[in-house]
Amino acid sequence: MPERLLIVSNRLPITVRLEEGSVRLINASGGVATGLRGCHERSNGAWLGWPGDLSRLTLPQRRDLDRRFAEQRIVPVELSPGEVRRYYEGFSNGVLWPLLHYLLDRIPVGQSDWETYQQVNAKFADAIVRAYEPGSLIWIHDYQLMLVPDLVRRQLPEARIGFFLHIPFPSPDVFRILPWREHILRGMLGADLIGFHTFSYQRHFADALLHLLGLESSVDRARLEGREVRLGVFPMGVDVESFERLGSDPGVQIDVEAIRREAGDRKILLGVDRLDYTKGILRRLLALERLLDMEPSLRDRIRFIQISVPSRTKIDVYQGFRREVDENVGRINGAYGTIGSVPIHYLYRSVSNRRLVALYRAADVMVVTPVRDGMNLVAKEFVASRTDGDGVLVLSELAGAAAELGEALLVNPYDVNGMAEALRRALTMEPIERTTRMMNLRGRVRAQDIHRWAARFLEVLGECQPAVPARAERPSPPARIDDLADALRRASRLVLVLDYAGTMIPTPSAPGLLAPDHDLLTLLDRLAARPRTQVHLVSSRRFELLDRWFDGLPISLWAEHGLWHRAAGQTRWERTEDVSTEWVARIRPMLEQYTRSTPGSLIEERSASIGWHHRMADPEYGSMQARDLRQALGQALGNMPVEILEDDKSIELRPHGVNRARVIERILASTPKPVTMAAFGNDRTDEETFEALPEKSFAIHIGSGASIAPYRLADHLAARAFLHALVEEGEPA
Ligand code: UDP
Repeated sequence: MPERLLIVSNRLPITVRLEEGSVRLINASGGVATGLRGCHERSNGAWLGWPGDLSRLTLPQRRDLDRRFAEQRIVPVELSPGEVRRYYEGFSNGVLWPLLHYLLDRIPVGQSDWETYQQVNAKFADAIVRAYEPGSLIWIHDYQLMLVPDLVRRQLPEARIGFFLHIPFPSPDVFRILPWREHILRGMLGADLIGFHTFSYQRHFADALLHLLGLESSVDRARLEGREVRLGVFPMGVDVESFERLGSDPGVQIDVEAIRREAGDRKILLGVDRLDYTKGILRRLLALERLLDMEPSLRDRIRFIQISVPSRTKIDVYQGFRREVDENVGRINGAYGTIGSVPIHYLYRSVSNRRLVALYRAADVMVVTPVRDGMNLVAKEFVASRTDGDGVLVLSELAGAAAELGEALLVNPYDVNGMAEALRRALTMEPIERTTRMMNLRGRVRAQDIHRWAARFLEVLGECQPAVPARAERPSPPARIDDLADALRRASRLVLVLDYAGTMIPTPSAPGLLAPDHDLLTLLDRLAARPRTQVHLVSSRRFELLDRWFDGLPISLWAEHGLWHRAAGQTRWERTEDVSTEWVARIRPMLEQYTRSTPGSLIEERSASIGWHHRMADPEYGSMQARDLRQALGQALGNMPVEILEDDKSIELRPHGVNRARVIERILASTPKPVTMAAFGNDRTDEETFEALPEKSFAIHIGSGASIAPYRLADHLAARAFLHALVEEGEPA
């Protein structure tokens, strides 16, 4: 157990009640509350969350509450009624909840509340930062707080942060509908460890990183900004011991017998859900109706008890859904009831834990048919309560629990006929089959209980290295960059060698797509006008493009990695090497074939080289095709005088003899000494430049990738800002 654990959840694990003028704290019974209470008590940390509405407390009551919160190490994050409406009801439950459960038609049109979601997430993050001490572990929970990991990371770069998503992570095709999808993904990526209930959610998340952020990950880890983020599957369980204890409790047993006696010789089917449209209650009722319709012998032989716990009652969609359920219950009872009994006993209320377990024990068939559910604890609680080894579980294959509970009767919750058939099968199952299935289910549920879930997550989080990016991959500290600027200002003759794409402009999605903007042209012009300064712009692009883009600028241009050169102040381009190009015609058909079979890919042909780009193709398919093509090229090129340059989005073929080291040699040969050179670049070919620089030069890498350059700037904007400062501040006095 770590020294200090900060648990962060939307709701605190207690409910504040006012009874006869005094404040009572009641322990909440939900899964997270039960699972983490022990960890909270054993660690010397804090639990941060929303305490509910405290506005009705008097000042003395509030003081009393604060004292008790402090005793229990609870940190309330208070929210105004407007924040609750927009962050909790509006964005979390109105937008994220239906979206992550694939129920897009439940998202209200035109509503967003995104601003408030961001503000409240920032409020939580600030509360965490205040409660943090070096060495604390931070564990943030669920979809209401998806931005918090990154917001905390920015303030506490070295903290160890875990995030667990309790609901599904959908396929990226669904997740991409969210206008703030990148923001949410980056929010989660602030964590060192991101946990999901099932492997399918984890895979969807990794796919979303690739398709929406262009971030590749291996099975269980992703790297960004020099940090590693681990992904893991941690199926949540229930408090098995407490359900077993209640299941065998003689008092509960008396209730069980009363429920059975009341049902007479009818078989009992049971549904227990929050009244939520994800729980599949409507189709479940229709399946029951279908069963009664196709099996007249079952009429008045079964009792379906449905407990619907009131939930999110202020949200319109939930109010409408409640009406729909009420109507269907009424219709079916009207059609299939008798004077003495109705098939559906419908209760719209919550029940105590003891009562719940009595129902679990009295049921012949437990019906859990959500149309989508992160895990579903009711299914596991039912199994945990059945110490008698009997009872049949009918379970939706779209609940996370189905990944573990394969011995249940698995159903497709959208297939009403299929569910009716499963109910019939459950009701008529032989005892030996029932008990065999239940024995296996019990083994699974007992092995993965809630305490083990929490311990496992914390164990893996504890193993994560504190999230400090490898030093070399972070931008150089400001003082070091100031020293660099001083050195360049002092130079008696300064030669700037600037790579173009990725260094002076963002990496374009296709070659030729990013022309220079006004700011860059002005910058280059002013740099060139600086006394005793030469500016060289080096690019892999065709000279015709550079000629058009930088027409009239008094800078030296090098196209196709230096194969073509236009000296400063000249208009004529000259070819610097005599290289063979007859191989291009032999290779081109192969590239054309891959272009045809890879939508979004394209060929870039230059005077003496050719490249294949797949930045706009589907990232997975593009990489797969690139691997194939790379192999095929290796064979086809044999010992032709050609070099293959690869990056993660392109394959370029370049003739031997052309490279950026030659550019540096040529510049040096034509420049009087002494000279100070400074080269800026972002990718593999710029490393050729850096390696060729003479002593006492300066290499500056742009971005976070690997490089031999001793100086680093974050991106092209930082590079431009540095160069702007160089012209503005002139030379030292
Ligand atoms: N539950 C409850 N009050 C009730 C009936 C059930 O608090 O009257 C509990 C139930 O024991 C279970 C939880 O509500 O632990 C429901 O969890 P589940 O994962 O099934 O669904 P969720 O409500 O989290 O979507």
